[in-house]
Amino acid sequence: MSEVLVTLPDGSQKPFPTGTRPLDIALSISKRLADEAIVAKVNGNLWDLTRPLEANATVSIMTTRDEAALEVYRHSTAHLLAVAVLELYPGTKLGIGPPIENGFYYDFDRKEPFTPEDLEKIEKKMAEIRDRDLTFERRLIGKPEGIAKYEAMNEPMKVELITERADDIFSEYTLGPDFIDFCRGPHVASTKRLKAFKLLSVAGAYWKGDEKRQQLQRIYGTAWYSQKDLDEYLKQLEEAKKRDHRKLGRELDLISIQELAGPGLIFFHPKGALVRKIMEDWMRDAYLSRGYDLVVTPHVARRQLWEVSGHANFYGENMFVPMELDDATYQLKPMNCPCHILIYDNKQYSYRDLPVRLGELGTVYRYERSGTLHGLLRVRGFCQDDAHIFCTPEQVEDEVVGCLEFAFDTLKTFGFEKYEAELSTWDGGLSDKYVGTHDEWILAENALKNAVTRLGLNVKVMPDEAAFYGPKIDVKLVDAIGRKWQLSTVQFDFNLPRRFNLNYIGEDGNKHTPVMVHRALFRSVERFFGILVEHYAGAFPVWLAPVQVSLLPVTDRANVYAGELAAKLKAQGYRVDIDKRNEKVNFKIREAQLMKIPYMLVIGDREVDAQTVSVRNRRNGDLGAKTLDEFMAILHEVNSNKTPIE
Ligand SMILES: [Zn+2]
Ligand SMILES: [Zn+2]
Repeated sequence: MSEVLVTLPDGSQKPFPTGTRPLDIALSISKRLADEAIVAKVNGNLWDLTRPLEANATVSIMTTRDEAALEVYRHSTAHLLAVAVLELYPGTKLGIGPPIENGFYYDFDRKEPFTPEDLEKIEKKMAEIRDRDLTFERRLIGKPEGIAKYEAMNEPMKVELITERADDIFSEYTLGPDFIDFCRGPHVASTKRLKAFKLLSVAGAYWKGDEKRQQLQRIYGTAWYSQKDLDEYLKQLEEAKKRDHRKLGRELDLISIQELAGPGLIFFHPKGALVRKIMEDWMRDAYLSRGYDLVVTPHVARRQLWEVSGHANFYGENMFVPMELDDATYQLKPMNCPCHILIYDNKQYSYRDLPVRLGELGTVYRYERSGTLHGLLRVRGFCQDDAHIFCTPEQVEDEVVGCLEFAFDTLKTFGFEKYEAELSTWDGGLSDKYVGTHDEWILAENALKNAVTRLGLNVKVMPDEAAFYGPKIDVKLVDAIGRKWQLSTVQFDFNLPRRFNLNYIGEDGNKHTPVMVHRALFRSVERFFGILVEHYAGAFPVWLAPVQVSLLPVTDRANVYAGELAAKLKAQGYRVDIDKRNEKVNFKIREAQLMKIPYMLVIGDREVDAQTVSVRNRRNGDLGAKTLDEFMAILHEVNSNKTPIE
């Protein structure tokens, strides 16, 4: 009997009969490991627990403790969904069923729309099928035979996928006696391992995301290793719904998207624009105090610029189409970098002048498919807080430290305590997909690593995840309900300085290429605004709130006094409004509360006579009668300290 030599994660090696399955190896270690196993890793690739080993291999077993195995788990749940749908609604055609963040979906072609009641029924059916403990079985089939088979099954979308994507011999997976699906796998061993799932919604989706193709019904679901994890996630979803910036943006009259103007383009209403102004002012002031120079560059430029920068080529699909003018072809700016480069290149710098840090709140336009647009988070026009640093190789480490400190100061100022950082590195030069020399990559990666060490940061290193033009550090913030948001980025670039022949005169009197660093801290003003709305559930901290104080006269008799108070507050720079409507004061309080205004000053005859105000806070309710000076002292304290929650 032939054998394969299996190397385990602890380095030990053991022979097994050829054809041994990773599940058998897990069993040989412990029953518990086999029970908790989700999928195997064989020579670095995910591999079904039940797929036989034909050659010597390094094998590890991934269990419910591995987050990376969740994708396989969720994808397997998508298959379970497909089986349930076909049992309940025979004749439904299958699209694709991938895992996504926190869950999975499956696309179905069926005339009748799936109703919420249908989803409940399907979910029950999934649980019932799960309890049958059906196994996933991998089979191989030749391409022509496979196409004929799926044609006979009347699965046109599968036929199309196989025709386009399948190898000459491809894999398909059965799940139980009646279900078979063209799929690369891998999956869990059998359905009993799928412990906790829930169907969430159904939405229209074009086949292959192409508006010209048929519209399918996409059923979204979520799946977790335990009921507890699932419950926590559902609670978070519930909370996220209440905080949705699109909903709050409308209710608080902050922003809108206008049908007549087009999707993905954001209108900031007076209150939203005020918050944005405060964010931008803070950022511009921070640029200046941290030694950046502010620049302003055009929204549109000759196509030639994007050809020199390379964007017309490698980023072309994301750009708005060119427009012909009398002198040349122009194109909207998808990134600010080439414009900042032109400003740098306008002058001959010497090493003594470096670093040069050029910053801009620059608006860029990117083409995103209409189906992918999402409120403020995915748009077609947005403003980046974008800066580019040009420096000598000796300066890069300090510059990276400076960028990261700036990023963390930004997060802290805007009320985020928790964050994570990721360092994306190259592949060590194994492939030719990265530009730049070996020395440049080593220099840049060391600068990033040293900066991280100097700041005592915990970073996750992501090998082979760098941009093609340089390594980077990404910072993700964690919001009030535990969601992570990709935010600041500090990125090296070996490509653009060369494409534009940038230089500086070195100490030796010769021309050298500067090191270029891109960095954006809000990432985009729009997106960060949306994150702030969700993080604070619309209740902006006092220093950011568009209206900080609302004066609520109980009767018309108090209007004059209220006007005097408002004038005094405004003179101190506070943002104030007066609700003079002929409404009951309780109604006015409720309205101000709904608009999440931090402080309400109730003014009736008693307050006019005593020259006081009755102070209410949106969170803490009645704070009692105070003189204006006493109230202003409170307001000054939370406003100047940028207290996140008063
Ligand atoms: Zn699959
Ligand atoms: Zn840039």
